[in-house]
Amino acid sequence: MKRTEKVLLIYTGGTIGMGRNPKTGALEPLDFNHLAENVPEFKQIPTEVHTYQFVPAIDSSNMSPKFWGEIVKIIVDRYDMYDGFVILHGTDTMAYTASALSFMFENLTKPIILTGSQLPIGQLRTDGKENLMTSIELAAAHHKDDTPMVPEVCIYFNGHLLRGNRATKQNADEYNAFDSFNYPHLCEAGVSFNFRKHAILMPDYSKPMVPHTNFDSNVFVFSLFPGAEENIVRHILDAPELRGIVMRSFGSGNAPSMPWLMKLLKQASGRGVVTVNVSQCISGQADMSRYDTGYQLQDAGVISGFDTTVEAAVTKLMFLQGQFSDTERVREYMQRSIAGEITIPNIESSL
Ligand code: ASP
Repeated sequence: MKRTEKVLLIYTGGTIGMGRNPKTGALEPLDFNHLAENVPEFKQIPTEVHTYQFVPAIDSSNMSPKFWGEIVKIIVDRYDMYDGFVILHGTDTMAYTASALSFMFENLTKPIILTGSQLPIGQLRTDGKENLMTSIELAAAHHKDDTPMVPEVCIYFNGHLLRGNRATKQNADEYNAFDSFNYPHLCEAGVSFNFRKHAILMPDYSKPMVPHTNFDSNVFVFSLFPGAEENIVRHILDAPELRGIVMRSFGSGNAPSMPWLMKLLKQASGRGVVTVNVSQCISGQADMSRYDTGYQLQDAGVISGFDTTVEAAVTKLMFLQGQFSDTERVREYMQRSIAGEITIPNIESSL
């Protein structure tokens, strides 16, 4: 693998580069020059850093599959020119973007590190500088044979490097904003880097990276709660465009055993809607063989999302629907790991 000693920094927006609107006092995205002015340390980085800026920079609440496609294009067009890529992104939807990108780059052979901050980079106690500097170092980190240490889509935040499609935003206020509750951290960045090599994906370096950009967003995240009303749920499940549901169930994948719910889910499944069962718990997995209510869901055609996050499940569903018109293929791949997003012993595959 030929190294270039260069990293591309893609600035999409988010708190890290924000400043106060003098009229309203609210934070709004500023351009990259503002961010760079506040980081004189850039000059000390041994790696050459080139930049690409989204115009206008966006608050990540406005992220969408269209922007994900743009990010993929930016990287694909420059894939051979850089050792790795750092994406500055708002924290609010960072885990969705990281999950989506992990599916969009098949056989990724270079690091793509997403980071951001809780305080804008111009503020005294900002976490942005450390997150940015360390992400650039991680994107450039490599083995003796020049292959990268982390050829994955990752999130770096507050000393932890996480697999992107295993990460969740866990805290809106503290610096420790992300964690991957069902997967070990890929690296701890303390005084030195401590990589967990066994946990990091290994691509096939003899094969090319294959980008995919099609998405079909006809999906819905349905969170169960005691007291859900049949009529409301029916309206959603009957939507003719609907192709996929991520159902956030109770505990280890359980749902109320109300006949109307099972009937609606069964009817949806009969129409080709794929329903994926993901637990509302922050860690652990959906296991539909533990309780009778789980069996009823299986009978209604619901498939297990095992230990996957909601962010990974919903982006994977949109991604697979964009690749396959055949429901059975979507169901099949939802129950396999395609980018390390789900733990299913002995079944690993790529598209
Ligand atoms: N609203 C911001 C965003 O996600 C929050 C952040 O960056 O932390 O763009």
